[in-house]
This record gives sequence, structure tokens and C-alpha cells, in this order.
Amino acid sequence: MNIYITLDYEIFFGEIHGTVEKCIIYPTSELIRIAEKHNVRFCFFVDCGFILKLDEFRKQFPQLENDYKKITVQVKYLSNSGHDIQLHIHPHWEDSYYNGEHWIIDVKRYKLTDFSENEIESIVMNYKKVLTDLTGKTIFTYRAGGWCLQPFSKLKKIFKQNNITVDSSVFRKGFYTSEHYSYDFRNAPDKDIYKFEDEPEIENPTGYFTELPISSIRNSPLFFWKLFLLGRKNPYLHKPLGDGRAISAPGQRKKMLTQYTDCTVSIDGYNASLLEKALKKLKRKKFENMVVIGHPKSLSRYSLQELEKFVEKNKTNYNFATYSKMFKNK
Ligand SMILES: [Zn+2]
Repeated sequence: MNIYITLDYEIFFGEIHGTVEKCIIYPTSELIRIAEKHNVRFCFFVDCGFILKLDEFRKQFPQLENDYKKITVQVKYLSNSGHDIQLHIHPHWEDSYYNGEHWIIDVKRYKLTDFSENEIESIVMNYKKVLTDLTGKTIFTYRAGGWCLQPFSKLKKIFKQNNITVDSSVFRKGFYTSEHYSYDFRNAPDKDIYKFEDEPEIENPTGYFTELPISSIRNSPLFFWKLFLLGRKNPYLHKPLGDGRAISAPGQRKKMLTQYTDCTVSIDGYNASLLEKALKKLKRKKFENMVVIGHPKSLSRYSLQELEKFVEKNKTNYNFATYSKMFKNK
């Protein structure tokens, strides 16, 4: 089994976006500590639109210089130490700006598919270039911001032009729709890897793209009650390390507290308690790939402990994989 521990490397996009130090740099340094202690590698999907904006505004606002340096130094360090750096696009940065005190984040166009074809073309090219320039390596795997990559027909040609051949955004049975964001993976195949051509949730054995879906798990309402209550009981252990707030997802919390929900296998907060259970389930299904998602900003002391236990227990029997190592020469 290949285990991909993947992290979406970004600040928050809600009204309180949080600081670069607490949302990104510190939690990632904890991940680096775990990786180095156990000699495993992780995969980072870097929000490169943010790096572009920092670069644009740091000339006018010198206080951003520090954020820009910290991020670019850490991304280079990760890449040089064998961690994977791949493409994560949050195109709402196109409409967002720094006002001298904080970022004014406009999510009216949250999905890449909200933009025109010409705009998509330059976003994909410029965002990918940021990472190629920083790492000097080939960037070929995509994780959509907020899982929004449908309708993929709007992206397909541009992704091909940019040699993006692998996607890792789908999670089976995932479904959500609200004003600014939506995804529908209810028809995705029950597979750990497959080819697709037109839409990432529809298998096509001769397709150009490979989908390596994020593993999914079905959670009971009880699980989410525990998750919310534990945070109140023991904030030191369970409070997210990031100091911002997530973009609101209307109806989501109520749904999770009242019915079974299909979720990603995740190391964010209390979700990390399910890693072993998820691995067992995938083994029973004879899957060969497990893709775990996480966000440095949403990790807690508890989830870092759980991740370390999981790595320690499984590092000899399983391969902690990166996209670069697994797909590069295929
Ligand atoms: Zn993201």
C-alpha cells in the first residue's frame, strides 16, 4: 500500500484569514519534524496564488516581505528535502488584495471554472510557474481549491497544455453545493486509482488524466458531536494551530451533526483519530493507495500526535509515497 499524506498549504479564506506564521509555517515545521524523525515524505499542495499576491504587494507593504520570505524559504526547504510540491489553485486571489492591514478576500469567483477560458489559461500557467521557479522541479499533479474542478470540460485543454496529468481532488460520494462553491463526486467509481478524460468522477480507461482520489470514510453524527465537544473540553490539545477562520459552508455543520456524512480521510483535528480505521477498510477492499488530506492551518496538537503514531506504526510495512516518486516517469 502507498500512503500519501497530502497537505493543502494555505491561510484561511474566511473573514479572519490568520497569520502566515500560525496557519502555515509553524504547523508545517511540526510536520517536517515528524517526517525527519521517521524518514518519510509528505506531499504539499501549495496555494501559489497567495505567493503571487504576496510578491505583488510586498513592494508596496514591506510588512509582507517577511511572510513572502518565510513561505518561499519553507517551500524550497520542503522540496529540497524530498517532499512533494504540487499545484493547488485558489483563483479567488485574482480578485483579492492587501489593504495595508490585512487581506481583503473576495470569494465571489471561488471556483476556477468561474473564470473565462483566457483567464483560466493565464491562471494555470502563472500559478504553476511560481512553483516550477521555486523548486526547479516538474509540477504535474493538481488539487482543486475547495475540491471545485467541475465542469472539468472547461479546464481539460488548458491542463493538457500545461502537462498536468494527475489529479487528486475527488473523494467518493462527496457532495456539496452552496452559493460560491460546489462539487459532486456521488458517481465517482469505488477505486483508489483510475483514468479519466472529460470529468474526474467518470472513469475512462483510455483517458489522458490519472485520478488518485482522496480516500473517503463514512462518519456518524456521534463522531462529529465528539469532534465539536472535545475542542471545547480540551482546547490545548484539540484547538487548530491556525489562527484564522474557515470560509462559511452553510448547512454543513447541521448536516454532519444529524446524519451520516461521507468525508475525506483527514489529519485535520480530531479526524486524525480515524487513520487506522480507514487504513484497515482500504486493506479489506484490496486498495493499493491511501490518500489522506490535511491542512497545516487545521492541524491540532492531537492530530500531530495521531499522525506521528500512524507513521511510526506503518512506516516499515507501507510506502509513504509522493506523486513525484510514483508518477514521474510514467
Ligand atoms: Zn485549499
